[in-house]
Amino acid sequence: MDYRRTKYCPELVDIKEKKKKIEALIKKEHPHAQDMHTYISDNSEKYKLKFVQAYNGKCAYCGVSIDLIKKNEFEIDHFLYEKFPKFKTKKEAGYIENLILACHDCNHNKSDFWINEDCYNALYPDEKEMQKTFFRDEQYYICISDEYKDDKSINEFYDKVRLGTELHRLDYLLMNIIGLQRKCQENKDLYAGLGKIMDVIREKRNII
Ligand SMILES: [Zn+2]
Repeated sequence: MDYRRTKYCPELVDIKEKKKKIEALIKKEHPHAQDMHTYISDNSEKYKLKFVQAYNGKCAYCGVSIDLIKKNEFEIDHFLYEKFPKFKTKKEAGYIENLILACHDCNHNKSDFWINEDCYNALYPDEKEMQKTFFRDEQYYICISDEYKDDKSINEFYDKVRLGTELHRLDYLLMNIIGLQRKCQENKDLYAGLGKIMDVIREKRNII
């Protein structure tokens, strides 16, 4: 089970193909385009929305959904840090595979973290393997799986992106309530009650 989604969220499928399609569209409309980041991160362009939709409207690191934050609060992360010497220019890091949908918090926290080659697949959000690196425990905390719990790089990433924080528990709880509420729209009392609970938790989220 992908720790980023609740049972109400759709599975992340064909993400690589979906991103390739967005790239093809950009190249068709802008034949000289090289740095995909420039186009996809532009909030006034349709590419950003398509990119958000490709990720089911969810941060690829913590799973926070567009039900909780606005489209403009999503950012486009360079999975491999764009200022690392491997890239001569920032443009060079803007290839489609290196671009990941992230909420502002995850993108900001991850910042200059450099992904080691030996844990590339374990941390790359478009790979199924990443869904086994972390898991959601019964109290909704995001945790490191047994397989990686002694892995230094994975632990550094986990700490840097702050995946273990209370905020992500609250978001997961909210996403569950939103999902449940959508399933019981005919039951007016339950629907309204869940709405009230959500308002209280949302208020708490905003002060964290
Ligand atoms: Zn996030």
